[in-house]
Amino acid sequence: MDKKRRDFLKIAGVSTLAGLGGTAVVDRLVSGTSPVQSEAAKHADNAQGGHDSHQEEAKSGNRYGMVIDLREFKKDPALGDKVVEVCNHTHNVPDFPKKKDEIKWVWLTGYENAFTEHSQNYKDQGTLDNEVLVMCNHCDNPPCVRACPTRATFKNADGIVAMDYHRCIGCRFCMAACPYGMRSFNWRDPRFALDMNKINKEFPTRMRGVVEKCNFCAERVGLGKQPACVEVCGSSKAIVFGNLNDPKSEIRKVLKENYTIQRKPSLGTHPSVFYIV
Ligand code: SF4
Ligand code: SF4
Ligand code: SF4
Repeated sequence: MDKKRRDFLKIAGVSTLAGLGGTAVVDRLVSGTSPVQSEAAKHADNAQGGHDSHQEEAKSGNRYGMVIDLREFKKDPALGDKVVEVCNHTHNVPDFPKKKDEIKWVWLTGYENAFTEHSQNYKDQGTLDNEVLVMCNHCDNPPCVRACPTRATFKNADGIVAMDYHRCIGCRFCMAACPYGMRSFNWRDPRFALDMNKINKEFPTRMRGVVEKCNFCAERVGLGKQPACVEVCGSSKAIVFGNLNDPKSEIRKVLKENYTIQRKPSLGTHPSVFYIV
């Protein structure tokens, strides 16, 4: 680690101890006024009751999003694990045996954990028992991007919240800012937890001291492919991916025809991941 990076980490550590964390950070970052939020504010007019409206006409630029149909995951209980496995393999996500070292891009969690703002009262047991696939929401108004001092995390031209691992100084401000806990920090060198003979050579491995998370398969989307998790679901349409800014896209059709929910809509982050429950 070079001296500049070490010095910054010291400052970052002091700031964290001084109380830069938790809800206060989220509140400030979500309500702050930055160029990212100004961009997102254009979309805010379309928000109704914390949910993004889909009535607007085509907007310039892309905003990729995803609809996850939990009914399909209930029908095929093996599908969730297949998604996690394909994502981990595609992105060389290390498998550390100890929980504290864990790196996660996509995983299954309980309904109550995933949808903390939605009433759990008298929900049918089938829904409550169904595990929910969670990943970075690629928020249209992402507090993690505003928190990052080096622009190592940024929103790209497709609306994907991406990472430049080489710019990451490991301060973990983005982790404190993400209200969904969707980022992981490499406490250890991830390459030691990978079988280097089986890695995907098309995707970079990371190093100790950087943050990582789901990247909406930007490397595949850039080549005109679907994300790996969408592909592994085959014809089930358990996950539909597409451009939310295109009113003629399949994802917009799915959103129009189904009632969907987002995670923690009241925070104003405008998640680009929607769920059919
Ligand atoms: S889910 Fe978290 S990490 Fe992903 S864009 Fe939103 S705030 Fe950032
Ligand atoms: S991506 Fe996160 S850990 Fe890396 S520099 Fe930005 S805020 Fe710090
Ligand atoms: S979009 Fe890509 S990176 Fe994100 S969970 Fe799916 S496979 Fe993983």
